[in-house]
Amino acid sequence: MALEIQENIPLAPLTTFQIGGPARYFVDVTTDDEMREALAWAHEKRIKFVVLAGGSNVLIPDDGIDALVIHIAGGMYSFAGNELAADAGCNLLELIQAAGKKGLGGWEKLAGIPGTIGGAVRGNAGAFGPEIKDFVGQVKAINMNTGESRTFVTAECGFTYRNSFFKQHPKWLITRAFVHLQKVDAAESAKRAEETIAEREKRHLQNVKAAGSFFMNPTASAEIVAMFEKEKGVKSREGRVPAGWLIEKAGMKGATVGGAIASLQHPNYLVNQKNATASDVLSLSKKIEEEIKKEFGVQLEREAAVL
Ligand SMILES: Cc1cc2nc3c(=O)[nH]c(=O)nc-3n(C[C@H](O)[C@H](O)[C@H](O)COP(=O)(O)OP(=O)(O)OC[C@H]3O[C@@H](n4cnc5c(N)ncnc54)[C@H](O)[C@@H]3O)c2cc1C
Repeated sequence: MALEIQENIPLAPLTTFQIGGPARYFVDVTTDDEMREALAWAHEKRIKFVVLAGGSNVLIPDDGIDALVIHIAGGMYSFAGNELAADAGCNLLELIQAAGKKGLGGWEKLAGIPGTIGGAVRGNAGAFGPEIKDFVGQVKAINMNTGESRTFVTAECGFTYRNSFFKQHPKWLITRAFVHLQKVDAAESAKRAEETIAEREKRHLQNVKAAGSFFMNPTASAEIVAMFEKEKGVKSREGRVPAGWLIEKAGMKGATVGGAIASLQHPNYLVNQKNATASDVLSLSKKIEEEIKKEFGVQLEREAAVL
């Protein structure tokens, strides 16, 4: 076999949280064929497998992962007319910048969301309004159990807020995404991407050991939505209120467990402040969930995946 399956590889450095133990088995893949080869190896050896990409929305357990970790990072991309075709492991920001240089854009508000395009499609990543679903035309994926390859058109991807068919059906491994872009001025596209990144930096630090928003913004009662709208002077989207706002209201901003803290700047970022363990983060998240449930009757749901 051409692929190199490694053993006992530390995973913390491959995640933005910088937390967690090693992978029992580990393999780097970029192409469709390599993904199939890795899956065949795991099936033959009857070893479980787990997918890790940019590592920006995951928490790795302290004991590590007793499985084959299929690490999808890097890949090829190409342009045809207004369409970009990219392997799942391509970095989202690099794609936005490369497309901009070609005079293709429209998705610059997604600039600065860490991670890969595959990860972004799976979680329907979004920022400042737009979501990746607004640009995705087709998605290619492999059924990891049967090896079936399938192309999904947008309507089949089940995109909703931070959700997709692929998130709901984790047996489907996204291998490639096709993105429809508009003709834009290259300099204007670069400027918009830079402005977006600057805005992100201004709102909250990007360079922190965290997984971005730990919880999804929940739907809440009309009363809570009205309270949010009145206090912040903005309209709620889809009847949701920011989890960070609820965390602050419940007095949990700055709450800590061990080395983990609910960020003072953005309380929905659970930050690895002082050598936090995964168990610190999970205990803190549980405390927050309980408090929010008690105070507001709202059940928070994790956005970050615990692998
Ligand atoms: C500082 C910071 C800021 C962030 N800001 C935002 C933001 O503004 N908006 C936003 O939406 N998110 C944000 N995030 C979260 C994160 O960047 C996104 O969720 C990102 O799309 C995850 O991609 P990834 O490649 O890092 O996936 P990973 O973290 O590696 O994986 C996440 C999940 O997706 C699965 N997965 C990954 N690739 C594939 C694939 N090819 N096929 C099937 N499943 C796959 C993994 O198994 C895992 O369950 C932020 C994170 C950080 C650290």
